[in-house]
Amino acid sequence: MSPFQHGEVFVTDDGAETDLDLGHYERFTHAHLSQANNWTTGRIYLSVLEKERRGDYLGKTIQVIPHITNEIMEAIRSVTANGEAEVVIAEIGGTVGDIESLPFLEAIRQLGNEEGRENALFVHVTLVPYIAAAGELKTKPTQHSVRELREIGIAPDILLCRSDRPLSHDLRSKIALFCNVKESAVISAQDVDTIYDVPLTFHDQGLDDLIVTSLHLNEVAVQTDLAEWRKLVSTVRAPSAGETAIAIVGKYVELEDSYKSLREALTHGGIANNLRVNVRWIESEDLMDEESDARLRDFDAILVPGGFGKRGVEGMIRAISYARRTRTPYFGICLGMQTACVEFARSACDLKDADSTEFNLETPHPIIFKLRDLVGVEQFGGTMRLGACPCVLSEGSLAREIYGGAEEISERHRHRYEFNPAYREALKKGGLIFSGVSPDQKFIEIIELSRDEHPWFLACQFHPEFKSKPLAPHPLFASFVHAAFQNRLKTETSVEQIPDADAPAIERAATASES
Ligand code: GLN
Repeated sequence: MSPFQHGEVFVTDDGAETDLDLGHYERFTHAHLSQANNWTTGRIYLSVLEKERRGDYLGKTIQVIPHITNEIMEAIRSVTANGEAEVVIAEIGGTVGDIESLPFLEAIRQLGNEEGRENALFVHVTLVPYIAAAGELKTKPTQHSVRELREIGIAPDILLCRSDRPLSHDLRSKIALFCNVKESAVISAQDVDTIYDVPLTFHDQGLDDLIVTSLHLNEVAVQTDLAEWRKLVSTVRAPSAGETAIAIVGKYVELEDSYKSLREALTHGGIANNLRVNVRWIESEDLMDEESDARLRDFDAILVPGGFGKRGVEGMIRAISYARRTRTPYFGICLGMQTACVEFARSACDLKDADSTEFNLETPHPIIFKLRDLVGVEQFGGTMRLGACPCVLSEGSLAREIYGGAEEISERHRHRYEFNPAYREALKKGGLIFSGVSPDQKFIEIIELSRDEHPWFLACQFHPEFKSKPLAPHPLFASFVHAAFQNRLKTETSVEQIPDADAPAIERAATASES
């Protein structure tokens, strides 16, 4: 899944590689999502073809209706199999009118009929664009997409109107009239400064009540209490403790969507500390000149996220070297752990030209190599180490402290290469601490530097960003943001003390760390 086309690949506990929307659903709800919550046209067809080969259809001709549509309905209903869900939200991606989404729309039309009007609700997200030249919001696209839906038998009950400014009362009435919905069901989904404000703006317009009443859930629905959520939004908007600046050094940084969960997890880390996290995305390839240290000087902390392929890796290694030398907090995630191991091997263990075989097959020191479980597997799709795996934390480590003293944790993975255990002793001798390993000792999951050496240098093979939520910030992000802010305070104090405030940050940081 190329980040250029898909944005982030979100990974669930059971190892499904999904669209980034699923990440939003997990962050905003208490639901534990899995493979069963993400269906593509391909998976639906695959399943139908397998059934056909098995003879389930007794040789009948396979058609979009009913075979594909039945399969889609079955997929939607399957998430209620454990009996836990009272309401199923089925999002049909794409735009009304796309050829690809037609079978899905037909399936929910049938599903609506089968479940009955009082048990199904069609919510349609539409666009109300602002035309600058005319100076007005236009309702035509909304009218057209609703008509398009009605032609295929779906009459939307609620319209969520995306716009960049408020909808006037007149406009709402007009949309209600032309689209045959109640005026109270025309909801403004105006752009907001933080995504966490969305539930509040919907609540203020009565959307939650409308849904509860339409689905006859008044008896079972608990009273909404958004106090905690309101507090969260005000912290995001005006954090009381200040701000901190973090550099993310990676690839695809021009596409913020490809690191969606990471960006959110850093915001959550900020919420935990009452801080605003100012993130600057740095393309690692831009760190290949002599100016690289200078470019990193203004940041309180550095993070190297996950990634694939050789491009930009040497720039990441430079950033890690800078963080290690200057005692700038460093957080490495997946590729960010692998590159931290390579950097450490090269500079602290005298293993010249150490590398990952992902980038250099001929390296004399393959610190990182292909997963042993994948040797001989040439297929790329779906062959990575995916999903939740346990990790044991060593006593006295920074990792263990961050996870509140937990002995064992579980985090989500998505990688094809791993740390080569043949180098464990050498790197340990050099001072690297292996503070998280799989229970069977097979996989290195977390590395760190001693706190005597460095205030916060930790990297993990897994992706903690997938499990962070605004009301439950991930401890690693909360701790990292805290360390970043501490570094900022230290640097600010030392700048006040040093007469020459223009002295390079490396010197400043070194002075600060001695004090
Ligand atoms: N490319 C590395 C691997 O496959 C790291 C993957 C990642 O960062 N998600 O192991």
